[in-house]
Amino acid sequence: MAKSVKVQRLSDFAARQQPVPAATVGRRVSGRHLDIIIRDFAVDLAADGYKDNGVRRRVSVVEHFGRWLEQGGIALRRLTAEHADRFLRYHLAHCHCPEPAPKDRAHCRSAIARFVRYLEAQQLVRSIFPKPPPCTPVDRLLTAYDRHMKDVRGLSPGTRQNRHRDARRFLQWRFGDRPLRLRQLQPKEVSGYVLARARHLRATALHPLCVNLRSFLRFLEFSGRLRRGLVGRVPQLPQRAVPALPKLLQPPERRAFLNSFARSTLRGRRDYAIALCLSDLALRGQEVASLTLDDLDWRAMAVRLAQTKQRRERLIPLPDRVARAILDYLKWGRPPAQNRALFVHLHVPCGRPLAAHYVRKIVRRAFARCGIQATGTHVLRHTWATWAHRRGASLKLIADVLGHRSLEATTGYAHVNVEELRRVALPWPTNRR
Ligand SMILES: [Zn+2]
Repeated sequence: MAKSVKVQRLSDFAARQQPVPAATVGRRVSGRHLDIIIRDFAVDLAADGYKDNGVRRRVSVVEHFGRWLEQGGIALRRLTAEHADRFLRYHLAHCHCPEPAPKDRAHCRSAIARFVRYLEAQQLVRSIFPKPPPCTPVDRLLTAYDRHMKDVRGLSPGTRQNRHRDARRFLQWRFGDRPLRLRQLQPKEVSGYVLARARHLRATALHPLCVNLRSFLRFLEFSGRLRRGLVGRVPQLPQRAVPALPKLLQPPERRAFLNSFARSTLRGRRDYAIALCLSDLALRGQEVASLTLDDLDWRAMAVRLAQTKQRRERLIPLPDRVARAILDYLKWGRPPAQNRALFVHLHVPCGRPLAAHYVRKIVRRAFARCGIQATGTHVLRHTWATWAHRRGASLKLIADVLGHRSLEATTGYAHVNVEELRRVALPWPTNRR
């Protein structure tokens, strides 16, 4: 029977008037038993769609392998996986065979594997390599789904892998080893699956599960394998759980924080001015560290924040309390320095600009002195924004003070009402004695 298959394939070639690959294999193929097999193997490859060049490369490997088998006195019918392994591992490493004798191991491995599959199909050897598990209907469906994700949706390999995995889980949950009857799928089974998984998953993991399930059902609908209307039965979940609100300083905490600086010392004056820049101007640690003497506009009573890569220049009103603290520091605290940085080191070598991490360290230490459970300077920004909002400041104004690029972009820096900002920036609850 195998014979007739081969003959038919050969005749196929003739019918399609394609070059018979056996002719390209070379004159080395003579009339010996192995040579005849290799020649048929070449025909089989070409029938499989391999181009002339691909056939020639694989046949070269098999000729090499065949020569090695002959030299070792190994009959083809006694071939085992161990022989192939020995050839690939040991012979190739020390091969001195005359050309052409391909030596690339990966290439030889795949060519020999293909040859062995051919021998097995022709029942010329018994099965010597473990067979891949048979391709099930689920495998075929998921292969089609993957092709859809790749070619139609253009999804990345990582996304495809996740969706493939979730689709398989869903099918396994619904059908197990039973036949795949997608048209019997009920709406309540879709939501039921999500509920069943929800028992074992965190809320954050449930959202991607729903996205992936919706994607798979949409593909089934799209390809006509599923009746319409099931996609909508996948629950809509928020993208992620609402993050815990960052800690806010209550007015007494904030007061304690500001009072914790020993303002009778040079260092205390500097650090108090820094603390006010963070808490009353809502600047970032980095922005405080980058302030220069030239950023202070005493006539306008404002601080100019230089343009950075993400943010354009901002003008922030300087409340009295902050202005007084900065003046106090400039008068009694800041040592003469070679640079224009506002906040500089006081210890030797003094006058170096403070780095942002140093600003954050000053705040951390003050928090620790007051027993406040917070680590970063952002707590002060957040506290400012929350209180400003409670006093009725619009989110737009708050965004302008905080320097949030997204809202700035919509209205533009020029339209910020500095007087309105001043009202927002000024009256802290603690200021109203
Ligand atoms: Zn060799």
